[in-house]
Amino acid sequence: MTRRRCEQMRVFEYVFKDSAEFRSEVGLLKEWCNQHHVSNVLFHIYSTTNDDPAIGTVIQTISSVIPRALYVGCSTSGNIIGGELSGPGVAVTATVFEDDDTTVEIHQYSFTEENEADMISKIVDIVNYNDSIKAIEFLVTIEELSMTKLCEGLSRIRHEVNIFGGGALNEDMDEHKVCVFSKVGDITGHSIVFILYGGRNLHSDAFYIEGWNPLGHKLKITRSVKNRLYELDGAPAYDTYYNYLSIKNDENFFINSLGFPLMMDINGVKILRAPTACNDDGSLQMTADVIENASVNLSYGDPWTILRSVNESGLRVQDFGPQSVRIFSCAARRAFWDSSSKETKAFTSVAPTTGLYTSGEFVRTGDFINQHNVTMVIALMREGDVIRDPDRLFHMEDSTLLSGQVSMVNRLANFLDKATKELEEANNRLTIMAVVDGLSKFFNRTEIQRKISNEVMGAVSSGNDDNLPSLIMIDIDNFKSVNDCCGHSEGDKVIRGLASMVKDVLRKRAPGGDRRKWDSRDIIDGYADLGPSAGRWGGEEFMILLPKTDLSKAVEIAEIMRLEFNKINFPQAGHQTISLGVARAVRGENVDAFCARVDSALYEAKKSGKNRVVTK
Ligand code: GH3
Ligand code: MG
Ligand code: MG
Repeated sequence: MTRRRCEQMRVFEYVFKDSAEFRSEVGLLKEWCNQHHVSNVLFHIYSTTNDDPAIGTVIQTISSVIPRALYVGCSTSGNIIGGELSGPGVAVTATVFEDDDTTVEIHQYSFTEENEADMISKIVDIVNYNDSIKAIEFLVTIEELSMTKLCEGLSRIRHEVNIFGGGALNEDMDEHKVCVFSKVGDITGHSIVFILYGGRNLHSDAFYIEGWNPLGHKLKITRSVKNRLYELDGAPAYDTYYNYLSIKNDENFFINSLGFPLMMDINGVKILRAPTACNDDGSLQMTADVIENASVNLSYGDPWTILRSVNESGLRVQDFGPQSVRIFSCAARRAFWDSSSKETKAFTSVAPTTGLYTSGEFVRTGDFINQHNVTMVIALMREGDVIRDPDRLFHMEDSTLLSGQVSMVNRLANFLDKATKELEEANNRLTIMAVVDGLSKFFNRTEIQRKISNEVMGAVSSGNDDNLPSLIMIDIDNFKSVNDCCGHSEGDKVIRGLASMVKDVLRKRAPGGDRRKWDSRDIIDGYADLGPSAGRWGGEEFMILLPKTDLSKAVEIAEIMRLEFNKINFPQAGHQTISLGVARAVRGENVDAFCARVDSALYEAKKSGKNRVVTK
């Protein structure tokens, strides 16, 4: 019978000072392992430079004292030991697993644009053919390589596998002097190291911490290539930072813009991208790829809001009952907090907290793996069931202050948000008022004229006569007598009745009519530029524009309108009739002549007895 023990993983933390001291510490760890039931030993080695000789010393020591131990490592812009930023140099954590069923496996691959697809396929296959794997951690040298394909590729991994990781960096934030390494590979750039954790009793959780909030109105990325952001709303991207935030393009640009990264919503996940530099053409280098045509917001981070979101995440951490907390925190956050460890320290109240400051934080959220920036990814691990320990509750210093207080920045941002929304609403109302006729809710004459002329010019320049539009002009027959007999307000009802009939027929019968919403949102959302349009030309005269419609189709629609209108029974005016003129644009004719032609068709319809459709 196998004996069930109360296995749990343990984390031992070291800051490297000299080789003798480190050798004796690893010796003590070896003794500890001999006295306990240990299934795997995994070292994480973090160094603030890529060429510190201490890395070699640490590796040699580990290999000679505990030969079976595994190790992985990378260069970082700062090491987190005991939940705090440790000084420059090399920091080491040893994670000791106790459950016999737990497995730890390391793979290291070179990572270049050429072998990317192959490398991703290999790791996806390894994990998808091994059901016992529960979590994947990876350390990668980004070195200006786009991580988009890596993220997309890794999302093919079974969705129950937690995936998290970070990009190597160094203390000078120089993306080119970075390395990763492991027991199965060299200390090298252009590489990626995967750690695969598996086993029935191994549990993991990984998530990212929010804390930055959207600021002001939405902006559209109108031009970008990978991580170079050229234009926001059609203007150089730098203008946004200068105009709204008065951030100058000087040596402090990076630090000043850090508090205001761009926020995008990708598959329901809030992703931040911060500018790292401003180019002479006004384009911005961003911390990672941005997506052309995506809509983004400026966002702001203020200490209170960020700490509060860290505090809220504490409950998730506490509930999980981790035995190890690993943090992948953006190097920008370190700069934001001026190297204070306020937001990482609190996790030590629950479990040993170690980690690194990265050039990109990765985590799976739902089915998607995202490359984050300016965020903090928290990876939790545990062997065995949750053990409720009243001494291991999440506690953040100042947390009582956090609960009641709202920062001034937060209040001002809230004010700005509300004011922006009100202005947007008012602006939308004005836009509608400028182009829409109040009674019929059709476009006004100026707007329909503009649309007719755009449509004709577009069709002519396309060179394809099939694209030429047709016009239908409508005039209510003997309308003066409706006003005279039944009053002006009954006359208005007849105009409204005609308008709603026209919309209905266009929606159902005109080419492209179903693409429009036929309400005022049409104009704001841009649908009004699609398919047919209707305008009020004069008192009770209306002009219908039918893009890409030939004369016979236009006549068919006009005939339906004539019949449908006559079916309406107005409360006092009863059944009324309309006359309609129809014409199709011809190449070489100017727009005024085209409109005059449809007007004269209508005149003919009147002259020849009304209640009919005439073409010209
Ligand atoms: P016809 O069959 O030849 O078109 O005769 P008609 O009486 O309809 O003559 P016409 O088209 O010239 O008459 C236009 C009338 O429409 C004059 C004006 O009083 C009325 N009208 C114009 N705008 C409005 C409006 O917004 N509401 C109402 N109730 N009447 C309007
Ligand atoms: Mg009339
Ligand atoms: Mg008239």
